[in-house]
Amino acid sequence: MQVSVDRDRCCSSGMCVTNAPAVFDQDEQDSLVRLRRTVLLPEQFDDVRLASELCPGRAITVTGDEPARTGA
Ligand code: SF4
Repeated sequence: MQVSVDRDRCCSSGMCVTNAPAVFDQDEQDSLVRLRRTVLLPEQFDDVRLASELCPGRAITVTGDEPARTGA
């Protein structure tokens, strides 16, 4: 699973950094999102999916997503 961001859509809310600080960061100068990594570790999948869903600018795109898990 990979993540990308569109800095033109980012409104510097910082929600992504709150939800997945190991993946997202904010630029010190303009406060726009920056990625710490683009290829995700499995333990980061859920946090990054949540960050994408909650991003107010719809600036976060997740690709290569796994099929939804079914009940165990
Ligand atoms: S949550 Fe979205 S709008 Fe907010 S800083 Fe992250 S990418 Fe930018």
